[in-house]
Amino acid sequence: MRATIPFVKKVYEEYNQKCFGGILPIPEYRISNTKRIWGNVRWRHEHDEKGEIIAQSIGLSITKRYDTTEDRMIDIILHEMIHIYIIVAKIPITAMHGSEFMKVMNEINEKYGRHIEVRKGILWEELNSDTIREPHYLCYLELSDGRTGVLAFSVKSVKKLKDFIDRTPDITKHEFWYTDDPFFNRFWVHSSFKKIGLWTDRPKELLEQKKAMRVRL
Ligand SMILES: [Zn+2]
Repeated sequence: MRATIPFVKKVYEEYNQKCFGGILPIPEYRISNTKRIWGNVRWRHEHDEKGEIIAQSIGLSITKRYDTTEDRMIDIILHEMIHIYIIVAKIPITAMHGSEFMKVMNEINEKYGRHIEVRKGILWEELNSDTIREPHYLCYLELSDGRTGVLAFSVKSVKKLKDFIDRTPDITKHEFWYTDDPFFNRFWVHSSFKKIGLWTDRPKELLEQKKAMRVRL
């Protein structure tokens, strides 16, 4: 399933009663297309002229980019609800996912048989459910030791990439490619080339299989 407002609302209301004693405020629900993170919580404060907080509202956003099981979606929503709980219950925290977060999370997992995680990463098959077409500029590289790889880069940084290639004698060949295949949405987009991450699993075959096109830049 993908996140929808009625589903997020239903889970929120049900588990607010079940796990949090009904103390969580009703948020503004939002369904996003955010990449690589499942959700987030935002607090908005309204101030008077003196800067005093006169009203606060909360936004709960969950991405619909990835398809997953209903069970995992519930755990993803519960993760964000813990963040809201910690603020509402005024629990002092040392870190975003510190020991206070872990304590509440472990209690809920044990008591209600949930599998909430601290880092709710996106699984490979969930990444594969991303169907949004976006432009991707890719650079295929051959290295002097025989390795090959491909990296994604921001087209605005092409000058920096060319400089990087020029000053890296280990790079023996490079080609620029373009595609809007959603497979590449999972790639980290480089805009500086201090630390590069290369996709090295048959990069040329991957580009051809995904019908990427050679481009001149
Ligand atoms: Zn979190």
